[in-house]
Amino acid sequence: MISLHSGEFLEINMLDLMIPSERVAHVQIGNNLEHALLVLTKSGYTAIPVLDPKYKLHGLISTPIIMDSILGLERIEFEQLEKKHVEEIMIKDVPRVKITEPLKSCLDLLVNHPFICVETEEGLFEGILPRSTVLNQLNKHIRRANKPKSEE
Ligand code: AMP
Repeated sequence: MISLHSGEFLEINMLDLMIPSERVAHVQIGNNLEHALLVLTKSGYTAIPVLDPKYKLHGLISTPIIMDSILGLERIEFEQLEKKHVEEIMIKDVPRVKITEPLKSCLDLLVNHPFICVETEEGLFEGILPRSTVLNQLNKHIRRANKPKSEE
């Protein structure tokens, strides 16, 4: 049987788990879809944040959304990539938390989203918390909690 003090796990500071903004691939308001597709493809991520020059979070952009937006009736209209901008098609309902919120409130959101965005109290983008990072940390806690006493 697993014995784990859930309190210990839930007390982890979000700052210790999140990927800080300077290491998060993102695009800016005003960027065209060609640029966004380039960043998405090069980074290997399917979805990334859309920020403004002051690092305020406005939305998320993903490869499927971009491809869907250039689908014509009979062909993929690649020429639209240059003409359209990320703010026209981005998802505005972003899963987000304030940096001061407890890890517990992130768990609910991470059930349905592969990552959530973390903001300061002033609404500036601080970074992201991927589901995989939280699961990895939980895995470590469970292993540590179940280690036989002789191995400690
Ligand atoms: P992972 O759990 O590491 O596969 O990340 C899940 C999702 O979080 C990825 O598919 C991306 O959409 C996003 N993500 C993770 N790391 C980054 C990063 N450094 N920059 C931008 N997006 C990221």
